[in-house]
Amino acid sequence: MRQAFRASLLHCLSDPGEDSRPSAHEYFEDGLLLVDDGIVTKAGDAAALLPELDADRKLCEFPGKLIVPGFIDCHVHFPQLDIIGSYGEQLLDWLHRYAYPAEALLADDDYANEVARAFVDELLLNGTTTALVFGTVHAHSADAIFEAAQAHDMRLVAGKVLMDSNCPPELRDDAVSGYRDSKQLIERWHNNGRLGYAITPRFALTSSEAQLAAAGKLAAEHPDVWVHTHLAENTEEVEEIARLFPSRRSYLDVYEHYGLLRERSVFAHCLHMDDTDRKTMAARGGAAAFCPTSNLFLGSGLFDLPAMRAAGIRCGLGTDVGGGTSLSLMKTASEAYKVLHLQEHALPAMRALFLATLGAAEALYLDDCIGNFLPGKEADFVVLDPEASSLTARRARATSSIDEALFALLTLADDRHVAATYVRGVARHSRQQR
Ligand SMILES: [Zn+2]
Repeated sequence: MRQAFRASLLHCLSDPGEDSRPSAHEYFEDGLLLVDDGIVTKAGDAAALLPELDADRKLCEFPGKLIVPGFIDCHVHFPQLDIIGSYGEQLLDWLHRYAYPAEALLADDDYANEVARAFVDELLLNGTTTALVFGTVHAHSADAIFEAAQAHDMRLVAGKVLMDSNCPPELRDDAVSGYRDSKQLIERWHNNGRLGYAITPRFALTSSEAQLAAAGKLAAEHPDVWVHTHLAENTEEVEEIARLFPSRRSYLDVYEHYGLLRERSVFAHCLHMDDTDRKTMAARGGAAAFCPTSNLFLGSGLFDLPAMRAAGIRCGLGTDVGGGTSLSLMKTASEAYKVLHLQEHALPAMRALFLATLGAAEALYLDDCIGNFLPGKEADFVVLDPEASSLTARRARATSSIDEALFALLTLADDRHVAATYVRGVARHSRQQR
């Protein structure tokens, strides 16, 4: 199918940095996005492209709307959907009081499938077209999220959690079964259409050394699968890791020792690490998921984006629901701005957009197929409506540049401002259809 989408068009070409380099993005106030069979063929000015349009190309017009690439969530837990916004604890107590009981409910196949479908619907409602997703320890939790994503043709990476110690008995696998189940899931789902598998040890605190070694062996056997885990989120957690692994230089060094730090390794949080860790992570090709709503909500700490980027580490935004408080990457970007503001750093709107799109695609090593509108990329995109609420409509009228308009939108938007979400050129969510 040959399509053309007319609206304002905005996408990033590279990291705009703290000074928001104008050459890092392209903006077409009256733009046209040409899509052939789900693949972008061109993004440009409508005035230049419209006269050349073939009669058989289907034209969709969105006056007053802004099209940006589909948002990419670099770290989120689908089984925690129902405990989002739970009161009062920091990480380790929060896990035991809220997350583990919620995850135990997914022992039930039907419930796991229902939560997975609801989760994917929420992603699309918020303009998210790709995510790197934690399941639970149950192998069928991975089947559930992959099936839910496949039903919408989404590019999604997920995995069954590996955890065999320091957690409730009903949520434990073991080094042998975790390896076996993960391997079977890789064979079933990795590179199955747009789906990819992530070997998913929860964190070094909940895996025995035997399990970490088995995870590393699995990673070595499958160099193109992802590794997805948590790193240095909370100071109490970091102290526990130092106590459990006294011979390792740092928390990151534990993962490196077991072969879990490499390209396509994505570490959520990365709050409490030093420059040696940053250099090592960059050199090995590991990536960081910056999860500001979670880091603030659980009182974990402040992500040092400038230090991470200066070291050359790939970074994208993650919502980390249910520790995070929203599945919206626009709300997440807004909180990221505040986290950096507290550290006397800037986060211009274009850089926030980068972290939610192309930067996230780079963190996931998926920038060859998603993240912006260069020809050949998959046509995953969001139609944003700056006038979806009376307040944002007023605010939009008072802006004089795309940078200012985008900043105000990211700061104020919620899911009402996502008019439609397209996956490979097909509308998978539309407010008009609701
Ligand atoms: Zn997490």
